[in-house]
Amino acid sequence: MEFIDLKSQYQAARALIDQRIHDVLDHGQYIMGPEVGELEQRLARFTGARECITVSSGTEALIIALMALGIGADDEVITTPFSFIATAEAIVLVGARPVFVDVDATTCNIDPTLIEEKITARTRAILPVSLFGQPADMEEINAIATRHGLVVIEDAAQSFGASYRGKRSCNLSTIGCTSFFPSKPLGCYGDGGAIFTGDPELARAMREIRVHGQSRRYVHTRIGVGGRMDTLQCAVVLAKLERFEWELEQRTRLAARYDALLSGRLGRVSRAPDRHSAFAQYTVIVNERERVQAELMAAGIPTAVHYPVPIHRQPAYVHLATDPCPVACDLAEHVLSVPMGAYMSADQIDEVAFSLLRAARVELPGEPADALC
Ligand SMILES: *Cc1c(COP(=O)(O)O)cnc(C)c1O
Repeated sequence: MEFIDLKSQYQAARALIDQRIHDVLDHGQYIMGPEVGELEQRLARFTGARECITVSSGTEALIIALMALGIGADDEVITTPFSFIATAEAIVLVGARPVFVDVDATTCNIDPTLIEEKITARTRAILPVSLFGQPADMEEINAIATRHGLVVIEDAAQSFGASYRGKRSCNLSTIGCTSFFPSKPLGCYGDGGAIFTGDPELARAMREIRVHGQSRRYVHTRIGVGGRMDTLQCAVVLAKLERFEWELEQRTRLAARYDALLSGRLGRVSRAPDRHSAFAQYTVIVNERERVQAELMAAGIPTAVHYPVPIHRQPAYVHLATDPCPVACDLAEHVLSVPMGAYMSADQIDEVAFSLLRAARVELPGEPADALC
């Protein structure tokens, strides 16, 4: 069993992916070819955002967004410590300071009730992460930002395709940033990402920053980066978009099957009824995680830990920690992500769930754990 089965996805979409790739090889416009604009239009339509700017990765998306907002030295950005490192890394790379706010123990997303006490005169933005595919509490976060004159950047690297109160992730705040890293809900075959906004001025700034701050050929109006997504990767995403809605439905169906088999028996990341996760991960809460992982591995089931050390405890970031964030620390010791993907079968879900219950020593009433398998 694969943790995320990209090979089955390729086999299912092979004809279209190959065709799209060969179209690029034939026209030869490897940088900023026609697929780039086509993808940006398709993604804007999909999310409902007015503007989409493709970029070279999810990390670059965050950096370009922060640069366009003019966030830098002496500025503070409120974010979560329970995320992939890139969230905080982007803030540090533009010269600003991440201010970590603890997460909600049930959703693993930033706890909006703890944000306001961390706002200072230097705060410029709030950068929540829609972790594991589930949108953060964006309405509460947007309301806090409005009260204090801040902007909100959604790190939607794991949540492309998710929705929140009828709107798509990436279109829930001033700016949304996503990633097309192969294992994300919508992935390419290398590095890629996109930025979304409803603000045309910000969009123009981000398009310029993406190409070295260039407003016209060899006219550099601002400091930028080399941050384009290449045409081949855009072609791959265009091909994969054809199946994406079906894949989202399939992941939702498989997650519900996990829920039914595990609920009441094993802790898991909970999901609010007003939003749909993109299920980048299906994550449970276990004790004795190392042993559970080893037993699952012995049964041929790969797992992953997202994330074993919260960012404010990482060696390069620990000096920035002003809050102990105990919930994030506790989750980091207990979370375990199990195989998830649209191309898994119901039988595979059952196999993972039963092996997991057995490894976690969960007994069904009246049955020894062995009888589960
Ligand atoms: C993957 C990820 C990123 C970075 O995306 P890349 O495309 O790998 O640069 C940023 N934030 C989060 C939450 C992620 O999961």
